[in-house]
Amino acid sequence: MGWAQEELAWVESRGLRRELEPLESPQGPVVQVAGKPLINFSSNDYLGLANDKRIIRACISGLHRHGVGSGASRLLVGDSLAHQSLERALASFGRAEAVLLFNSGYAANVGIIPSLCGAGDVLFSDQLNHASLIDGCRLSRAKVVVYPHRDLDSLERGLRTVAGRRRLVITESVFSMDGDRAPIGELVALCQRHSAALLVDEAHAIGVVGPEGRGLCDELRVSSSVDIRVGTLGKALGAFGAFALTSRPVVDLLLNRARSFVFSTALPAMLCSAAAVGLEILQSDPALLAALWRNVARFASGLNELGICAQPDSAIFPVVLGDAQRAISAAKGLRDQGLLVKAIRPPTVPEGKSRLRFCISAAHQETQIDRALQALRAELQQ
Ligand code: PMP
Repeated sequence: MGWAQEELAWVESRGLRRELEPLESPQGPVVQVAGKPLINFSSNDYLGLANDKRIIRACISGLHRHGVGSGASRLLVGDSLAHQSLERALASFGRAEAVLLFNSGYAANVGIIPSLCGAGDVLFSDQLNHASLIDGCRLSRAKVVVYPHRDLDSLERGLRTVAGRRRLVITESVFSMDGDRAPIGELVALCQRHSAALLVDEAHAIGVVGPEGRGLCDELRVSSSVDIRVGTLGKALGAFGAFALTSRPVVDLLLNRARSFVFSTALPAMLCSAAAVGLEILQSDPALLAALWRNVARFASGLNELGICAQPDSAIFPVVLGDAQRAISAAKGLRDQGLLVKAIRPPTVPEGKSRLRFCISAAHQETQIDRALQALRAELQQ
């Protein structure tokens, strides 16, 4: 396949080539890469649970109880008491009537959207939605109206003028690459006014935002007006997998229709055992969320002192540099100063918006936050 080299050369020429870099240590605020310890600001492990001893123990005990492989999709023989029990725990945590687990957030979004909408329907999708939401829209064969990021007026114009059999508005609550929040309260009101359903991806808000980390919809007390909320287990909750919080009929429809659910081997039960303990820790240890938000506030105010406008809205802070090469060189400069902050480039972010993306964790020490700010100051002064 000669064209692979040609395509790679094209990717490389635009400064967009990506490569794997294995960690030589577990996840944590400090990781080892290529023999060097680096302070890690690129992980979505917002609560520092990915390597938590309690979650490891739960995973091992689930492993002994259920084995490694799940053998088949859940509709065949891949379902287990651990899956069912995690779904009940998530339903109670998310105050939802019903929950369905998925093997990842990506699988959830590409499975859910085409299950709910198809030809003749209209999807209204925020311009900065995650690739998994975009791909779910594409797979659905519905008409897709992309509205400018968080732009309620444009969305309302679309809702007023684009008719369809069924209509669904799709947004993230905390945007993965910008860390800003969608105007969820206003979106709920718009959807009600124009008879559209609403799907909110809370991947970066579950375990981060709101009381006990229940997410932005819960913080705004509108969860019961949102038709589907998607959360992941592989970020703040320290495990792997994802879930949809919704109504019983929607769960029953998804488990019949979502192709990423029906046609894929079930999430291993041991990961359900692990995630259940992640969820328990989140609900029983308020100090974790408090530490995360202390670190967020410290980093946001440090960025503001550097002249970078930052709001303490989430644990994600972009420093937009523009050109892909500039972002790569800044990431290298930070690495030389002992920090791991990956450059984020197209297609993850729009052309000309390459950036450093800092993710703050409850596990960071104040001194590590301060070192990041010092290193960034030195890098930006160059
Ligand atoms: N939705 C959003 C908003 C995300 O940022 C991500 C992953 N970064 C996903 C979904 C996919 O989740 P997962 O990594 O579990 O596939």
